[in-house]
Amino acid sequence: MNINGDATKANTYDAIVIGSGISGGWAAKELCEKGLKTLVLERGRDVKHIVDYPTATLNPWEFKHRNRMPEAFDKENPIATKCYALDEGTEQFFVKDAEHPYVQEKPFDWIRGYQVGGKSLIWARQTQRWSKFDFEANARDGAAVDWPIRYEDIAPWYSHVEKFVGISGNKDGLETLPDGEFLKPWELNCVEKHIQKRVAESYKDRHVIIGRCAHLTEPKQIHYDQGRAQCQARHLCYRGCPYGGYFSSNSSTIPWAAKTGKLTLRPDSVVHSIIYDDVKKKATGVRVIDTHTKQMTEYYARIIFVNAACLNTNLVLLNSTSRRFPNGLGNDSGVLGRYVAFHNYRGNIVADYEGFEDGYYYGRRPTTAFMPNFRNVNKQETDFQRGYMVAFSAARGGWSRGAGQEGFGADFKDKLSDPGAWHVFMMMQAETVPRYENHVRLSTDRKDPWGIPQLVTAIDYTDNDVKVMKDFLEQGADMLEKSGCKNINPYDDHRNPGLDIHEMGGVRMGRDPKTSLLNAHNQLHSVKNVFVTDGAAMTSTGSQNPSITFMALTARAANFAVSEMKKRNL
Ligand SMILES: Cc1cc2nc3c(=O)[nH]c(=O)nc-3n(C[C@H](O)[C@H](O)[C@H](O)COP(=O)(O)OP(=O)(O)OC[C@H]3O[C@@H](n4cnc5c(N)ncnc54)[C@H](O)[C@@H]3O)c2cc1C
Ligand code: SF4
Repeated sequence: MNINGDATKANTYDAIVIGSGISGGWAAKELCEKGLKTLVLERGRDVKHIVDYPTATLNPWEFKHRNRMPEAFDKENPIATKCYALDEGTEQFFVKDAEHPYVQEKPFDWIRGYQVGGKSLIWARQTQRWSKFDFEANARDGAAVDWPIRYEDIAPWYSHVEKFVGISGNKDGLETLPDGEFLKPWELNCVEKHIQKRVAESYKDRHVIIGRCAHLTEPKQIHYDQGRAQCQARHLCYRGCPYGGYFSSNSSTIPWAAKTGKLTLRPDSVVHSIIYDDVKKKATGVRVIDTHTKQMTEYYARIIFVNAACLNTNLVLLNSTSRRFPNGLGNDSGVLGRYVAFHNYRGNIVADYEGFEDGYYYGRRPTTAFMPNFRNVNKQETDFQRGYMVAFSAARGGWSRGAGQEGFGADFKDKLSDPGAWHVFMMMQAETVPRYENHVRLSTDRKDPWGIPQLVTAIDYTDNDVKVMKDFLEQGADMLEKSGCKNINPYDDHRNPGLDIHEMGGVRMGRDPKTSLLNAHNQLHSVKNVFVTDGAAMTSTGSQNPSITFMALTARAANFAVSEMKKRNL
C-alpha cells in the first residue's frame, strides 16, 4: 500500500500539459510562473535550443545532397515532402509518413512535428491578430455556433503574448487586423510598395501591409532575459535559430518555464488517454506510453491542459473513454471530432514586373506583404460565405534562374551574379466554414505502433471554397494588372486540405453544452478541470494565421485555471 502510495505521490503534479509545441509551451510558462508544479508530456524526442540544431549554419554545399532530399526519401514520404519547408536542413523536425500512419477517408495531408517544441521549430512565424469581425462572424451568418468570447475578451491576452514573443509589425490602424505590441517592422521592397500604392488608389477597402511576424527586429530586455538576440535576416529559421531570432517553444517558453524550477519535461511520452474518475466526477490524470519501453504509466494532477495540436488533441479525447463518457471525454454533445476546418490555400498567381531595375533589397526578409480580408466584412456581399487574406511578395530572379542559361567563362559568371527581372508571387489564405460532415474519428481496426487507434480524417472542400478561390484569382489578377504587372498567371494548385497546416476545430468552444465541447474559458463543459487551448478549440477559422490566437487563448485559460484553483473551484 505504502509503495503504491509513494509511487502515486511521485507521479502527482499540480498540472499536466499534453504537448510542448506552440500552445503547450505557453501553458507550461504561465502555469509554472504561477507556482504550479507542472508536468509537460511530449511524445517526441527532446530538442534543446541551439545544441540540437545541427544544420543551422550549414551552407548548401555542406549538405550531402546540396540541401535537397534524395528521390528515395520523396517516394517514401509522399505526404511530408509536400511541405515546402522540408529539406535536408529541416527533415529532422518533420514526422515521416510511415512512422505515424493515419487513415485518409478523404485526402488530407497531415504535416506534423513530433519533438519538444512541436511545430514551433518549423512554423513560418506569421502572427496576425483576429478582429472583432472574426469573433462575430458565426453569429452574423449563422454558420457553426457563436463564439462564447469576443475580441475584447482576448485583446489583453494578445498583448500579453506579443510582448513576450516579440512580434515585428507596423501599426496600420485597420479594424480588420487590429494593431498589437509591435517591434520595428520589416520593410516592403520597391515593387511591393508600388503595388501597395496602386491598390490604395484603386480600392478604398483594400490595404497592403508588411506582415506581422514573430521575429526580434529590435529585442527588448524581456527577450534578452530569455537568452534571445536580434534576428539576422538569414531566413534559415526552419532549421532552428541559434540566435533565438524567432519565437519557438525551445528558445522561449520552455526554458522560461524551466527557470522557475517548477517544470518537469518528459519527452518520449505518448499520452494514450485522460483518466476520468466516475466517483470524483473529474479527470484525475493521464495514461502515458514510454516510446522506448512501451510501458504504460499513470500521472496525476488537479488540472490538465490538452495541447497536442488540433487533430492529436481530438484523438486523445476520443480515446479517453469511461462509463460516464463512452464516446470520448466531455462528449455529451456528440460533436467531438466534428466541425474540423482549415485554411484554403488553393489559389496562386504569378506575374512579372518590368521596371525598378535599379532597386534591390537587403537580406532574406522572413515575412511578406499581406492584405487583410476585404470580403463580407460588415455584411454579406458576395455569393460565397466569408473571405480571404492575400499574401504576396516581389523578388528579383537570382543566380539559380541564371543557372539554366547557356554560357561560359567570366561573362557567364558575371551574368549569374546580376539580379534578374522582378517576379511577383501572390497567394490566398481563405477561411473555410466549419461543417458537421468534416470530421475525424478513431479507426475501429487500425492501431499505431503504441496500440492506440489510428485517426481517420474525413475532411473536404465545399463549393463555397471553390467560389472563394475563383474570387481571389479574379481579384488578385485584377490588382496585379492595375499595378502594371505582366504575364499574370492565376492557377488552382488543387492541393489537399491539411497542407495549409492550420487545422482547427473538433473540440469547439461555444455557449451551449448541447452543441459544443468547451466554454468561454476553454474548459470542457462537463469536465471542468480539463482545458483545451490549441487549434482544436476553434469555433471558426478566420483568415489570419492562427497560432498567435492559440497562444493568447492558452495564456488566458491558464491564468483563469490558476485563479479557479485558488478559489478551490478546481
Ligand atoms: C511549415 C509550417 C509553416 C507554418 N506557418 C505558420 C505561420 O506562419 N503562422 C501560424 O500561425 N502558424 C503557422 N503554422 C502552424 C503552426 O505551426 C501551428 O498552428 C502551431 O504549431 C500549433 O501549435 P500547437 O501547440 O497546437 O501544436 P504543435 O506546435 O504541433 O505542438 C503539439 C505537440 O504535441 C505533441 N503531441 C502530439 N500528440 C501527443 C500525445 N498523444 N502525447 C504527447 N505529446 C503529443 C507533438 O509531438 C507536438 O510536440 C505553420 C506550420 C508549419 C509546419
Ligand atoms: S532569419 Fe532571424 S530568426 Fe530566422 S534563422 Fe535567421 S536570425 Fe534566426
